[in-house]
Amino acid sequence: RSKAAGRNQLTFFESGMQEAAMRRLKLTSELRRAQADDQLELHFQPIIDVENGSVCKAEALLRWRRPGGALALPAEFVGIAEETGLIHEIGNWVFREAAAWSQRWSGMLGRPFQVSINKSPVQFQPHARAMDWVSYLDASGLAHNSIAVEITEGLLLNLTDEVFDKLHELQRGGMEVSIDDFGTGYSSMTYLKRLDIDYLKIDRSFVSEMMHDRTSQTITETIIVMAHKLGLKVIAEGVESAEQRDWLAAQHCDYLQGFLFGQPLLPAEFEQLLAGQPFLMAPPHRLQSPS
Ligand code: C2E
Ligand code: MG
Ligand code: MG
Ligand code: MG
Repeated sequence: RSKAAGRNQLTFFESGMQEAAMRRLKLTSELRRAQADDQLELHFQPIIDVENGSVCKAEALLRWRRPGGALALPAEFVGIAEETGLIHEIGNWVFREAAAWSQRWSGMLGRPFQVSINKSPVQFQPHARAMDWVSYLDASGLAHNSIAVEITEGLLLNLTDEVFDKLHELQRGGMEVSIDDFGTGYSSMTYLKRLDIDYLKIDRSFVSEMMHDRTSQTITETIIVMAHKLGLKVIAEGVESAEQRDWLAAQHCDYLQGFLFGQPLLPAEFEQLLAGQPFLMAPPHRLQSPS
């Protein structure tokens, strides 16, 4: 009896696995086609300069417009792209697209407008068809700091010479580097001694809790103080309320990003925001204390 039951369980288990494998295979081939068929999009979320309240940068966030119109978020497909290696091509596309928009918006504003992109750890692995980002910027005549590259602490957990050299090459080429989701990764901070990081991005989990959780507030405060002592700039992620905005401004956080200022927007929408409403936040001296 137990043998038969075991066999049934095994069959059930196998068919579940098979289904999952089929789904992955289908998703992989759809994603492969997505790029050729222009189904990938970049949406842009404003980043606010606390000094003057202007939209001074944007983060490019990847979206997949599925046939039929549904919009897939990175959580639904970036993992597969990483496992299959498609992330190399997609990541290069993200870079070129971000560079083009940065160029357009810098021209429109008459000053450099930086776009930041997320770079997966997989993109730091050796790849036969690696694209030379620095040469690409040179050839298109873009200011090199028009691109900031966001990496997570996971990449730095084991800072190999390979990763170190690749980061260094980007920076020699003038690109800036941010540590995304700072404070959530499994990592020591020794990489801060070896790498010349430009920005720390305080993870949304701290920002969303900090007005009612002492620990989150202390961590946020401490990250800002530490970053400034190390000569780095700080970007707070996930700012959703005026209370959070005002508190972060009072702590001298440099930049703010979150739904309070804007969701990730289509390029045309983002451009309207840039052109028509550059000041989303009053400068600190004009901030009203929360009532
Ligand atoms: P991330 O780089 O930490 O990006 C911030 C995420 O937080 C975005 O989610 C954004 O929509 C969301 N967000 C921003 N402000 C708020 C807020 O005020 N409240 C809330 N609840 N959420 C907010 P999204 O677009 O779903 O991206 C998720 C992650 O996917 C990103 O996290 C990044 O790690 C990854 N990702 C996005 N685009 C790319 C890409 O082009 N390449 C790679 N490799 N990864 C990407
Ligand atoms: Mg990011
Ligand atoms: Mg982040
Ligand atoms: Mg985050």
